[in-house]
Amino acid sequence: MTAHATGRTRMQRAKGYDPEPLDVPPLFTSPPQPVAMLRWLVTKYMWPQSSAWIALAALVYHLFTPSLERFASLDAGDISLIWLRNAVLMFVVIGGQHWWLHIRKSQGTEFKYESRWLAANRKSFTFNNQTRDNMFWTLVSGGGIAALYEAMMFRLYATESIPQLSSLWAICAMTFAVFWIEGVHFYLNHRLLHLDPLYKWFHALHHRNVNTGPWSGISMHPGEHLLYLSLPFVFLVLPGSPFIITFCLVYLMISPSPSHSGFDRFKMGEGANVHGGDYFHNLHHRYFEVNYGMLLLPMDKWFGTFHDGSVEAHEEMKDRRRTTPEV
Ligand SMILES: [Zn+2]
Ligand SMILES: [Zn+2]
Repeated sequence: MTAHATGRTRMQRAKGYDPEPLDVPPLFTSPPQPVAMLRWLVTKYMWPQSSAWIALAALVYHLFTPSLERFASLDAGDISLIWLRNAVLMFVVIGGQHWWLHIRKSQGTEFKYESRWLAANRKSFTFNNQTRDNMFWTLVSGGGIAALYEAMMFRLYATESIPQLSSLWAICAMTFAVFWIEGVHFYLNHRLLHLDPLYKWFHALHHRNVNTGPWSGISMHPGEHLLYLSLPFVFLVLPGSPFIITFCLVYLMISPSPSHSGFDRFKMGEGANVHGGDYFHNLHHRYFEVNYGMLLLPMDKWFGTFHDGSVEAHEEMKDRRRTTPEV
C-alpha cells in the first residue's frame, strides 16, 4: 500500500518525501530475531554511515590530533588546536553536504522530507538566517566544547589517571559499544532537555529548526552542548582509550549532519542511492514529544513515545497530547 493510500500525508507539515513507516531493529521485535539483527547491523546500521564515522575518527586521530604527551600539561594552545581541527573537519564534512544538497541542489527535492528550503530571512534565527545561525552555534560552541572535553580526557590518559584498554580487539569492541552507550546517553540527556526550564533555556535553540539541514545537527546552545557532548566521560569509569575519546567526539559532531540533512536518501548516480537522513529523528523535529532517543536502542518504544511515521502512531501521539495536562 502506498503512503497516499494509507492517508499518511495528513500528518505532514509540508509536502515532501514520505518514507515507509519505521520498524524497530529485529532484536527488539517480538519474538526477537538475533540473526536478522546481525544482518541489519551489518547491512543497514554499520553500512555506510557508522563505518564511515569510525574510519573518519581513525584518520583524524592518527593524522590530525596532537600526540598524547602534549596533554600531560594542559594549555589553551592545545585546546585551540583541537578546536581548529574540529572546525576544519566540520567545514569539510558538514559544509560539503550543505553545499551538495542545499546550495548546488544536486538532487533537487528528491527524497527530501519537506519540499521547502531552509529559512533565509526569519527573525527567530541568530543573524536572521537559518544556515548562518546553525553554522555559528555548531562551529563556535559545538567545536569548542568538544575540543575542551577531548583535551580534558587526553590529560587524564596522559597522566595515567583513568583505566585504559591496551589490546586492539578490546578497543574495537568498545568502539562498537559506543553506539549502544550513546543510545542510552542521548535518550537520557535529550529527555532531560525537554523538561522546563532546561527546554526554554537550552534546547529550544535546536528546535528552532523544524525543517532541518546538515548544519542543524549540532546547532545547540552551549548548555546543551555541555550535556550532549559529555559521552566521553563514561570512560572515567569504563576502560577506554584516547582513540575512543576522539571517536566519541567525531561521531557526536559529524553523524547528526546526514541525519538532519533533510534528505532521506542521498543519490549517488542514476538509480543508485544510499541511506541519508534519519526519519526517526526527523519526526522528533516535526512533533517534539516523540522519538527522544535513537532507533538502534528503541527506548521510546519501551517508554511509550515511539512514532514510526504511520497514521496509527500519529493518532496515538495526538491522544497522548489530549490526555496529558499542560504543565
Ligand atoms: Zn535534532
Ligand atoms: Zn528535542
